[in-house]
Amino acid sequence: MTEPELEPVYLDYAASTPVDPAVAEAMIECLRAQGGWGNPSSTHVFGRRAAERIEAARRQVAALIGACPEEIVFTSGATESDNMALLGIARANAHRGRHVVSSRIEHKAVLDPCKHLQREGFAVTLLTPGRSGTIDPRAVTAALRPDTVLVSLMLVNNETGVIQDIEAISALCRDRGIPFHTDAAQAVGRIPIDVHSLAIDFMSFTAHKLYGPKGIGALYVRAGAKPHLQPLTFGGGQEKGLRPGTLPTHQIVGFGVACERAGALLGQESERLMLLREALWSRLASLGGTHLNGEGEPRVPGILNVSFEGVEGESLVKGLGELAVSTGSACNSASAEPSYVLRALGRDTELAQSSLRFSFGRFTTAAELERAANAVRRELERLRALSPASEGPEDVRAAWPTRTGGAGIMGEAGGPGQEVWVRFRLQVRHGSVCSASFKAYGCPHTLAVAAWLAARLEGRSRAELIPGRPEDWARELAVPVEKLGRLLRIEDALHECLRHWPAEV
Ligand SMILES: *Cc1c(COP(=O)(O)O)cnc(C)c1O
Repeated sequence: MTEPELEPVYLDYAASTPVDPAVAEAMIECLRAQGGWGNPSSTHVFGRRAAERIEAARRQVAALIGACPEEIVFTSGATESDNMALLGIARANAHRGRHVVSSRIEHKAVLDPCKHLQREGFAVTLLTPGRSGTIDPRAVTAALRPDTVLVSLMLVNNETGVIQDIEAISALCRDRGIPFHTDAAQAVGRIPIDVHSLAIDFMSFTAHKLYGPKGIGALYVRAGAKPHLQPLTFGGGQEKGLRPGTLPTHQIVGFGVACERAGALLGQESERLMLLREALWSRLASLGGTHLNGEGEPRVPGILNVSFEGVEGESLVKGLGELAVSTGSACNSASAEPSYVLRALGRDTELAQSSLRFSFGRFTTAAELERAANAVRRELERLRALSPASEGPEDVRAAWPTRTGGAGIMGEAGGPGQEVWVRFRLQVRHGSVCSASFKAYGCPHTLAVAAWLAARLEGRSRAELIPGRPEDWARELAVPVEKLGRLLRIEDALHECLRHWPAEV
């Protein structure tokens, strides 16, 4: 009998948190409740029941961030809240100026609206963080112009977990009368937040990052800041006309319960998670060649972002099937670039490519993180041993005689710091390959193709050494066409072998 396969350890809380059972219960109850399904805008009893539930939830949401219930505008999530804030504030203030300040490490939900604003004729200054991932308040001051109408800087970075000095930044904006928005999707429920003491005018957050359901979030709009915000959509006038549309009662009820629980558990949870994070880091640091991204800065307890020297992140993740983690590598993601956040922190491409983000929370146990650290150790050792970098200069020779009367040859392409680095070694006797081995560093496609080729070289003569064309390998191993360049590098290594092929053996 085989053991039933273990469910992977979920270490991607920064992408989305599991829904708390109490939240799910409250949502189901709401959907089933007598009249809870009414349209909250209706004035009859069915509508009033729904509206009452929504207002109770609005109080729970507001309480978590120190706001008044009237300052909460429900949205579909942080992406919508960010869009509302960026586009809505800039447009509402366009008559005063057309300059916006944000940063390079924002979520795409802020960066993409920034690009859109540029197309609308706004100038956007994107600040670069220091090496540890924080934006210096002095850099914000320096970036402000007489025509600046909005500063938007995130509270907690979703990749590194670094907490920005929002207190100083929001205060300097308030002093100058410039509206300040913060994307707090990773912060709300994870660190204590009091919007009023922080001089925040607008704040985005979302339920599914704090054990609530997807598809519901909020934009905090400070009482008095409403004139700075123009709605993006128009309809039935709900949410003070800022975000019209029938409110999803059960989603909002779930959001409310999630906020209440987050507030109640915050103190004990952050202490527990901090200890878990430090234990995980000390295990990983002991593996050597590890870099903590965001080191030395205040960080949320549930995120640990580490770069591992000498391995590629996507390959690391591929071998970590028992863990659900995310990587800053871009091998399989839609964008061609490795983590722009880690690059902005000054990490070189290779270290940005080799990063893993471990994010954990309410349901994570110490045993799960121990299992994670053990799995990482195993994979790291395997990939590092597979890498050409594992061999010393004395092992790297182009051609050499062998004891069996044949010859050894080597072909290499790429090198340290490049996205592909492969090395083939062949033993040639009586005009054909009698054994082949390889070393490789790179994305999973690179490793797979190198291994696949090495297994096919035995028995081949010089004339037929290379089994087909890179296009064929790509088809055979389902490598996306964008990665063909990497396969061409691998082919280069085989061509290099041909150049060293012994004259007669
Ligand atoms: C998750 C996240 C978002 C997007 O939130 P959604 O509710 O999924 O739209 C925006 N900003 C940050 C920092 C996030 O972590």
